[in-house]
Amino acid sequence: MPARVHETFYIGIDVGGTKLNIVLIDPKDLKILRSKKILISDSLTSLSDSIVSSIVEICPIEQIASIGIGLPGMVDENNTMCFSPHIAALNGHNLAKELTRYFNCPIRVENDANCALIAEAITGEAQNKSNVLMVTLGTGIGGSLIIDGKFLKGHKGFIGEIGHMAVVKGGNSCICGKTGCWETYAASSTLSLYFKIFKNSPHLRTDDILRFDDFLSASDVNNDISITSSEEVMNLYKKQNSHATKAMNSMMEWVAFGLSSLNAVVAPEAIIIGGGIVSDFMFYEHLVDRYFKGFSQNNQFAPSIVAAANGANAGAVGAALLTVYKDNL
Ligand SMILES: [Zn+2]
Repeated sequence: MPARVHETFYIGIDVGGTKLNIVLIDPKDLKILRSKKILISDSLTSLSDSIVSSIVEICPIEQIASIGIGLPGMVDENNTMCFSPHIAALNGHNLAKELTRYFNCPIRVENDANCALIAEAITGEAQNKSNVLMVTLGTGIGGSLIIDGKFLKGHKGFIGEIGHMAVVKGGNSCICGKTGCWETYAASSTLSLYFKIFKNSPHLRTDDILRFDDFLSASDVNNDISITSSEEVMNLYKKQNSHATKAMNSMMEWVAFGLSSLNAVVAPEAIIIGGGIVSDFMFYEHLVDRYFKGFSQNNQFAPSIVAAANGANAGAVGAALLTVYKDNL
């Protein structure tokens, strides 16, 4: 429990596809005082309960200045989740409104990638930059943009659903209902799927794998799509396991392929990578860089591709700053 009993703190929560990350931020220096990760289920009751109990555990109610929540999906200007492919139970819900039953402080909800970019704009890699693309690699892929010094919002604030950019006609089925979405090839959750495919068929090349279903059984997919198993593949990659190395190369080639298209559209000076996988950025940075330059046309103007300075906490830190800074961005 924070020692300074008369002070108040910002709370930020980043809700991912499989876990929730909560941070307690000191308003004086915007540093993290406490943080905690909790596994979540996708039922709304259980998610709301997890959010409420995690807040109460991390800070006494009377010391909460504000609460911000980052969610995966399309959140409108009124804090309502309009479409969340990864947590369907959230669709149509206004978590900010629902949490006012428990907490008497400002509460805001925002898309998780927008939260990550807010954190980087205030305390990280997007400071003093006018053109930045934030890309969060996790269960899916999220995106957020600052162009010409302004946060872009798009119709109803729905800009940046880059994970659902179509990259393969008739490709992998996506949780959003379409096929061929970028995140089905490049989200960090795909790492375990590539690993399984190369373990089963070591002769395959990345270009051979346009539909994972052709190489995996349904049970392979259902059992292996968790971030946890992708973390295991990351550890094997660090130990130079050959299947994990091929898996990592495949995923990063697809990451770079999508980034090169986005670069052609938005011309950022920096691309900031966020999401859980960012803590290992130093181990795969060279792959992204090499593939990106191979796919891009004017490498003399290539953006820098960097890890979020707030690391895997960027989403939660930005969520904590929502109620204070968002309207000024
Ligand atoms: Zn999709």
